[in-house]
Amino acid sequence: MNNRNVNESRLAGCLLGQAVGDAVGLPCERLSRARQRRMFPDLDRLHFFLGRGMCSDDTEHMCLTAQAVIASGGDEARFTKELAKRLRWWLIGLPAGTGMATLKACVRLWMGISPESSGVFSAGNGPAMRAPILGVALADDLRQMQKLMDRSTLLTHTDPKAQHGAVLAGFAAAWSVKGDFNVGWPGRFREFYRAQRIAADAELDALLSKVLASVARGESADQFMDSQGITYGVTGYMYHTIPAVLHVWFRHPLDYRRAIEEMVRAGGDADTTGAILGGIIGASVGKEGIPAEWRSSIWEWPRSLAWMEQLAKPLAESRQTKRADAAVPCFWPGLILRNVFFALVVVFHGFRRMLPPYI
Ligand SMILES: [Mg+2]
Repeated sequence: MNNRNVNESRLAGCLLGQAVGDAVGLPCERLSRARQRRMFPDLDRLHFFLGRGMCSDDTEHMCLTAQAVIASGGDEARFTKELAKRLRWWLIGLPAGTGMATLKACVRLWMGISPESSGVFSAGNGPAMRAPILGVALADDLRQMQKLMDRSTLLTHTDPKAQHGAVLAGFAAAWSVKGDFNVGWPGRFREFYRAQRIAADAELDALLSKVLASVARGESADQFMDSQGITYGVTGYMYHTIPAVLHVWFRHPLDYRRAIEEMVRAGGDADTTGAILGGIIGASVGKEGIPAEWRSSIWEWPRSLAWMEQLAKPLAESRQTKRADAAVPCFWPGLILRNVFFALVVVFHGFRRMLPPYI
């Protein structure tokens, strides 16, 4: 297998892993740990609609980011322009369940505010949805990865915590490409991150140390979050999301199913945590490491899993040539129909949640 094929399979694993993690977590989004277990005792099946799964903004942002890398060839200014353009049109499709900061930033882009100033002050986890694919695509150039990550983050979120968290998630995805999971690897990952990062943050460093200590004590993600006072489920705050994701990754870096189930069961923003973790682990285990019954139960069109997989080839090529290429075409009128259907199912879940079990 030549280098490009290796990259293609890593990229495909990341893309599919993130989409499937999103779909497994989506029906449980914002439910408490206890209530989701009672409503969905079995995660072997997907539960969005008649045993099928669909993907949310977490997957859509990953696709937009991948397309922006292809269409920019990795050039920073062009990447910003391409991603901003895609975020604007994404909003026109009326996506259900958008994060507040991302929504505000996309409206600001439509108002003519430049992509350099469109972000709002927020440390929400939105930019982390765009992190794993950047980490995998630019694993061979971590300085450039951080620069593109900063640009991707600032488009929507300006709190430096959003940048630091997204960059750390990008490093995790890049480590997955490296594939060192021998004894003691979480400590080596921390050293790798410290040595290569452009900017440091003491608060995130302290959180990373707490995660490593908790993993070393053999604690679960739930136990770790309890110790941090996060008992309902993982919130959408970047410094809650990323430590929770890394906690599960450190313990199950090569077991996609177990990791995703544990991540979703940790509750709260389960589609986003499942998506980020799925993207990170997918880069290690590849398409074949993602349970086939989950993959085959995804019901998406026109951005199907097969369509997402197609992004891997031009993405690998553009990283090799460093040249901009045409983005992969998508039947956009189909997206509008799809989004209407998706929104109806989201409304159905909203009504369903008015019924028992309540806790
Ligand atoms: Mg989502």
